[in-house]
Order: sequence, then structure tokens, then C-alpha cells
Amino acid sequence: MSQNQDNARLRLGIDLGGTKIAGIVLDGEDQVRAERRVDTPESGYNATLEAIIDLVMALENEVGAQGLRLGVGTPGSVLPATGRLRNANSQCLNGRTLGADLERALAREVRLANDADCLALSEARDGAAADHRNVFGVILGTGVGGGVVIDGQLITGRNGLAGEWGHTCLPWATAAEVRQPPRCWCGLDSCLEAWISGPGMTADHVRRGGYNIPAQAIVERAEAGERLAGATLKAWLQRVARSMAMIVNILDPEVIVVGGGLSQIRWLYSEVPKIWAQHAFAEHIDTPLVAAAHGDASGVRGAARLWPLEG
Ligand SMILES: [Zn+2]
Repeated sequence: MSQNQDNARLRLGIDLGGTKIAGIVLDGEDQVRAERRVDTPESGYNATLEAIIDLVMALENEVGAQGLRLGVGTPGSVLPATGRLRNANSQCLNGRTLGADLERALAREVRLANDADCLALSEARDGAAADHRNVFGVILGTGVGGGVVIDGQLITGRNGLAGEWGHTCLPWATAAEVRQPPRCWCGLDSCLEAWISGPGMTADHVRRGGYNIPAQAIVERAEAGERLAGATLKAWLQRVARSMAMIVNILDPEVIVVGGGLSQIRWLYSEVPKIWAQHAFAEHIDTPLVAAAHGDASGVRGAARLWPLEG
């Protein structure tokens, strides 16, 4: 194959996260040809835009090609009518036309999807959900999101909202949960993100009388036998199970694959499947609940795969 034909099969993916921007170049065999990471600028939208452009240039220099097909994974979702981002927990992005701005700066078509969509796409292609036709991908981290891939195709939906799981209401809420619904940054009360994200777990721990410590520290204390941390972890697992039972009732995916920082909590995989049948509309649920095989790299790999293998 000539160098030009080879380059035509390259795809560049960018994963825009709250703290890091990751970039990758995949070749025609889905192998990684280059990868880089930079810190996400803290100084707002224009700096973020420039950092992405620089990263694209650096990756293209490294592989010796230009104008590669570019996919970008972002927090939040893209409003189809206007191309504006919304619901991103990195709030400097909301209301911005990131896709159009990148297209103008880089003189090419850019495909944009949210980070959970990218995770689902990556894992369905060659990760923990490979060989499954109906995949629900979940991000449990600073934010909470979901993505749906059916027969290898990302489902975006008429309003660009398919899989937007994090900003639905906590289902089967207890009387205590109804009395004290946490306010989500999006303006609604009791969103899943406000309950089961990392900051959501911390807030719940504080409401229970615990210290304001990260989710991972709560889990460590629970594992060391601290009673209060154990209660917070148990409540979190309960809420995740209810939230996933809702997905099983609506989509009944063949597999649920989990990414994001909280996907490292091993109790998820042992405990949640014991609980969710109490809420799903069946006595027995055998859906596999698995961690993303590509870990942190799922987002960036999925972003590159917003483009098909052939140019
Ligand atoms: Zn919300």
C-alpha cells in the first residue's frame, strides 16, 4: 500500500476531559500510531480550543500526515439544530460551537460526540463489549453519562440526547431521598449525576456526617471497616443498581460497560448485579456488567472511531 493510501486510513481522535486532553492516531488496522496528552487549560474556552488545535498539529507532525479525519469526544452533548454544546460539566464549553470552531481553524469536517458515546463506541468495537450487538456504555466519574451503540452504530437520537442518562431522575427514590434531593448543576433536582458521580458520593457522605473526601477515599475507608464510609458506599451501590435497572427496562442491552474513575470500584461488579433485579421488571437479570477494557483510553479511541475505517 502506498504512503498516501495508508495515510487516508488514519483517523485522529481527541478526548476533551476536565483535567486532560488526550489525542490519538489510529491506522487502518486500528493500531495506535501516535498518542499524546496535555493538561486542559484552566483559562476558559479559547485556550481550550487552542490546546486542541496544537495537539492535532503535534500528532499530525509525529505521523507525517496532514488533514486527518478528526473526531472529538467532549463532555455534555451537541444540540443538533445549532451545533452548540450543552450539559457539559466543564461549563466554559456550554453554548459554544466547538465543532464549527474547530472546523474553521483546521479546515476540515469534524465529528463530535460526548465522552460516554465515545466510550460505548470504543468498547463495542474492540473492548469489553466486543461481539455484543446492543451496548450501553456508562461513564461514572466527575460526571455521569451514557451512550448507546447498536450493531456497531452510535445512536445519537433526534435531539442528540440518546443515552443521556446522567440527567434523568434517580428512580425508585426512598422517602429520605425525596425529602433531600441534591440540586444538580444543570438546575434540576435529584439527577443521577448529583447522586452517583464522584462528587455526588462525596456530598452524600457529608450529608451522612462524614468528611468531605473524594469517592476513592470513601471506598478505601469502607474497605478498612469504617462504618460511616461503609454506609455511604452501600447507598451508592444501591443507587447505581436502581439507575441501571431503569436502563435494563428501557433498552435491555446485551452488556453494560463502565468507564470513568469510579469504574475502578470493584464492588460495582460484584454487588450491583445482586441488587438490580429487585427493580428491573423481571425476576432474573443476567446482563453482564463489565469495566471498560481500554480504561482511560476508551474515550480517545472512540473519538477516532467516529469515522469509519475507510476514508
Ligand atoms: Zn442534572
